[in-house]
Amino acid sequence: MEEKGDFIVTIFYKYIVLANPEEIMNRIKKFCEGTGIKGRILLGKEGINATAGGTKEEIEYFVEEIKKIKEFEDIDFKYSDANSNPFPKLKVKVRQEIVTLGPDAKDIDMSKAEPANHITPEQLEAFYNEDEENLVVIDARNEYEFKIGKFRNSITTDIENFRELPAKLNEIKNQVKGKKVVFTCTSGVRCEKLTAYAKSIGFEGEIYQLNGGMQRYLEKFPASNFEGSLYVFDDRISVAYDKSPNRKIISNCEFCGKPNDSMKNCFNAKCNKRMIACDECFKAHEGCCCDECREIKYPRKVKYRFEEKLK
Ligand SMILES: [Zn+2]
Ligand SMILES: [Zn+2]
Repeated sequence: MEEKGDFIVTIFYKYIVLANPEEIMNRIKKFCEGTGIKGRILLGKEGINATAGGTKEEIEYFVEEIKKIKEFEDIDFKYSDANSNPFPKLKVKVRQEIVTLGPDAKDIDMSKAEPANHITPEQLEAFYNEDEENLVVIDARNEYEFKIGKFRNSITTDIENFRELPAKLNEIKNQVKGKKVVFTCTSGVRCEKLTAYAKSIGFEGEIYQLNGGMQRYLEKFPASNFEGSLYVFDDRISVAYDKSPNRKIISNCEFCGKPNDSMKNCFNAKCNKRMIACDECFKAHEGCCCDECREIKYPRKVKYRFEEKLK
């Protein structure tokens, strides 16, 4: 975990048929009320997909309350540290789907689907160590995510949205026949749906998904077969699990070209462009991607985040 801070971020999901997601939404809103808990919680008839941040006490309370909801009592929570609460507000919403895989996969019903078997981070390590020739790791994330960090020798696709991935899988299918195929994503939530879809279009044989995703893997193996930093969906944006000074970096600062894997957003909220920038260049450009953005006044609501990052 990158920063030993006073705040904790938890990420979790579960596919389970929820008869009344609105009711659960209201219950979650209620027990978060008056606390400092912030984050993004999506509920739907197919389950929950969530990430939230708060102080240690707040997150302990939050997890306890989530576990009291009987459908969620066995959820696997993953944790990481942060220096401040990396979410601007709390959003609890009901959506048609908790992960959207686009029109090609719209018929995947997670209550009946058969996702691939899970393997543990230890098993993936063993695959790398013992039989790498026959191993294919598929990265189910978007380009902006894997640009700064990914599994060694993994297959990536130049998608900007998870919805575009089903179309790519047909091409991949023939390349990976007869191999050990492991699907990976940040927390595992995308792979549940994606592997169900992959199997439905003819992926067969040894098809797996990484249990707990890259986050759980990196908790256990911060400096092994995952290279670079992990893209996360909060204000930290990227987290480097490997703390060693000569850790492997696979990307470069977009301004000075030096090796760097810290992703940032342009502070012109209207632009919000993602950029790989070292701290020096980020400060020198006042947190902006270009001169035009620098001239625009930052909307107040993002200003505190700006000041925080320039400290
Ligand atoms: Zn730089
Ligand atoms: Zn910009």
